[in-house]
Amino acid sequence: MKVAIFCESAADEAGIRILVDALLGMPSEPFELDKFRARRGWPSVPNSLPAVVRHLYYQTEADALVTVADARGSPLHSAKCDPRQADPKCRLCYMRQIITSTSQRLGPVPNRRPLLTAIALAVPAIEAWWACGCNPHATEAAWERDRATGASAPVHIRKLKQAVYGTDRPQLALETSRAVEEARRVAAQIGELERHFPAGFGAFAQDVRTWAERSKEAGTPA
Ligand SMILES: [Zn+2]
Repeated sequence: MKVAIFCESAADEAGIRILVDALLGMPSEPFELDKFRARRGWPSVPNSLPAVVRHLYYQTEADALVTVADARGSPLHSAKCDPRQADPKCRLCYMRQIITSTSQRLGPVPNRRPLLTAIALAVPAIEAWWACGCNPHATEAAWERDRATGASAPVHIRKLKQAVYGTDRPQLALETSRAVEEARRVAAQIGELERHFPAGFGAFAQDVRTWAERSKEAGTPA
C-alpha cells in the first residue's frame, strides 16, 4: 500500500511511518510529497491540504494520505465536536473538514480508487507520543488538566523536546534518529499510545486499521 504522510517535518514523517506500519501490520510503501515540504508547519498543513489531496488523487497512484499536526495550545478533539460544523479551534475537525470537502469535489478518474485518509493530532506535540511510556505525564489527560489551569503550551513543548532530544532545538538528523528510535519503541506497544492519546491518536489508529479491508473491497491490492 502506497502511503503519503503529510505532517510538520521530515523527522515527524519518519516516526509516523513506523506507527502507520505497526497499525497496518505490514510495511507501507513510502510516497514522497517533496513538492509540498517547504511549506509545512501550522497553518501551512491545513492550508496546503486541498492541493495535497488533489495532487495525490489526480497525479499519483498513492492509496492513502496520513495527515498529522501538533495541537499545541488548541483544544482537545472530543465527542462534543460537531462533525457537520467543524470548529476551526479543533485542529483535528478543521483538517477533517478540509479533506472531506476537497474529496467531495474530486471528479471521477478511470481506474482511480478513492484516496484513503486518516488524520491525527499530536497533543500537545509529537514529542509527547515519543515520550509515551517513559514519562507518565505524557498523556492527553495530563496535558488537558495542565492546559485548563493555564499552562503554557510552548513551555511544556520545550520541556518535552528537551527530554526527547536532549535539546529544545534539535538539528534535523538528531530529531529524525530520535523520532525513529522512540517510534519503534512505541510501535511495539501501540495499544499504550492509543490508551494515553485516545482523542488525537485513537481514532486515527482505528481509521488506518480499516484501510486493508476497504482497499480489498475497492479491489486495490493492499
Ligand atoms: Zn474535533
